[in-house]
Amino acid sequence: MQEANLVQGLPKKKRPQCSTGVRAANGQTATGHSGMGNNGVVEDLARSFPPNDNDCGCAELNAISNAMDAGIDLRGAVIITVEVRGPESPTGKHGQRKAACSVCAAVIEELEMIEC
Ligand SMILES: [Zn+2]
Repeated sequence: MQEANLVQGLPKKKRPQCSTGVRAANGQTATGHSGMGNNGVVEDLARSFPPNDNDCGCAELNAISNAMDAGIDLRGAVIITVEVRGPESPTGKHGQRKAACSVCAAVIEELEMIEC
């Protein structure tokens, strides 16, 4: 995903582990990254689904927050998350799809979004 490549070059401390893209049914898009925080609505929703292994730091939640803040209609929106690794990373994980954790999956379902 393009978004993952944009952040790939960041120094390791600033580079997120994951990038998420949201595409609404009407074509509007939003992106998010892990560890970047959430809006209050998403944070509260996510915290209502324990256990919260990633402490609401998931890229999915940040992307949903950004989409919500931009006024994007999330119902029926498609959401996809990919791994981000540095250019020198030998793991080959960069750009690979990553499944949502239990909390994100619950939030995605609650908002009637579609995990891709
Ligand atoms: Zn998650």
